[in-house]
Amino acid sequence: MKFPGGREFYPDAVYVHPAMVLWIGVDDTDSLRGMCTTFLATEFVRELTRDLDLIGYPRLVRLNPNIPWKTRGNGAIAMAVGRGRGQPAVAGHIDGKEIRVYPHGDPGGEPATVLARLAPLVERWSDLAQEGTDPGLVVLSRKPSPGLYWKAVRRIVSKAEARRALWGLGVVRTWKGGRGIIGASAACAWRPRDRTWEVLAYRPRSQWGTPRSVDPDSVRSMDHRFPSTFNNYDVENGRVVIAPRTPCPVLLGIRGDRPEELPRAFRQVRGEAADRWLVFLTNQGTDDHVGHLPTPSPWTAGRFRGIVDRSPRTLPGGHVVFGLNGWDVTVYEPAKQFRDIARDLVPGDAVEILGSVRHQPRTINAEKLHVIALARLRVKVANPICPRCGDRTKSMGNGAPFRCPRCRTRLDRDAATYRPFARSLRTGWYEPPEGSRRHLSKPLKRGLPE
Ligand code: ATP
Repeated sequence: MKFPGGREFYPDAVYVHPAMVLWIGVDDTDSLRGMCTTFLATEFVRELTRDLDLIGYPRLVRLNPNIPWKTRGNGAIAMAVGRGRGQPAVAGHIDGKEIRVYPHGDPGGEPATVLARLAPLVERWSDLAQEGTDPGLVVLSRKPSPGLYWKAVRRIVSKAEARRALWGLGVVRTWKGGRGIIGASAACAWRPRDRTWEVLAYRPRSQWGTPRSVDPDSVRSMDHRFPSTFNNYDVENGRVVIAPRTPCPVLLGIRGDRPEELPRAFRQVRGEAADRWLVFLTNQGTDDHVGHLPTPSPWTAGRFRGIVDRSPRTLPGGHVVFGLNGWDVTVYEPAKQFRDIARDLVPGDAVEILGSVRHQPRTINAEKLHVIALARLRVKVANPICPRCGDRTKSMGNGAPFRCPRCRTRLDRDAATYRPFARSLRTGWYEPPEGSRRHLSKPLKRGLPE
């Protein structure tokens, strides 16, 4: 794959942002018809790096994946700018120019001026004609409190709450309903506990909306050569996962734990030429959206432990539903082979689900499944012998006692001879194949849930 830009230099992960630089956040600019907030981020970078420096990597922050009004992946953008200090890393290539990010920064730029420079870009690249596109842009000289991020990634935040959290921190501009202010401010509020990176490559404008050309074999070999990357190729379903299927400007995105490896991984992929690329620091693959406890509220995610109390059944659309401590748990058809794990469960199995509560019908949408202990199953080998007359007894029906055909003596079910039934399911953690995971779900490859 042709990769614009040449020299690389990567100091250790650059993601620390000291105070006093300017924080920019933007969200809700795109619609399903095309465009993508991350592309707007590259336009911001192009504009701002004319005279300012990026402090740390730009950030792609995923928020609550269960809110009903998201367009796709509920992603918002944040970035810090100022006067860079320290050894920079190359984080992208836009319009023939290398994009560098600095580990430290001094103040530079003035919030109102920066807002005035960026607002026309929001207008140019947002799908403002589309209902439900309600952009918000913030330029802050201090970050909002981290609680705003945690609420926005796990629960529902109102516009009023977002405005209160921004009080006195900087300047804000909204368009139409302005709901984007929630994502824009929450993205600025993120202080990573866990983190990953993603290199996003974009197509030339002439190609937008046309089928993408990305060579699957090269994606598979990139996946092997760069074990620090994840969610590249869905082996079970033979599908390239790094290239989206929407008409947006993104050519592909490679996610991983080592930002310095991502551009090299990208170079391994053969296919059409990219027009620009940029590495983002992200909360993807961290499980940040999952609370520690079971949650009764719809549109939130939590952990649910219990005993399977209803056998799995497959619904007409291919979804699999089973009961856990009185809850309904669903593994949806798009989760593909993950459903086979659910189908192998039997009443009595002890499991833990990481999943989101769906409003209607009320069910837990399983994102990961932990088989903690398997119920012991047994298969009847022979009916018991009557202790009085030595004849073999007959079963009186499913779950009913046995009875001697000659003397009518009754024996209960435990008197039969059984052998243990070997389960094919094993204890351990399970997740959907690469192509069916949520952006925020932590792949098991990155470590087991705590
Ligand atoms: P894409 O992934 O393509 O960028 P999207 O899925 O991010 O699109 P948006 O168009 O940005 O969708 O819409 C999400 C909207 O929801 C934004 O207005 C954002 O501010 C808002 N939002 C995000 N998180 C929350 C939350 N926790 N509570 C309430 N509103 C939220």
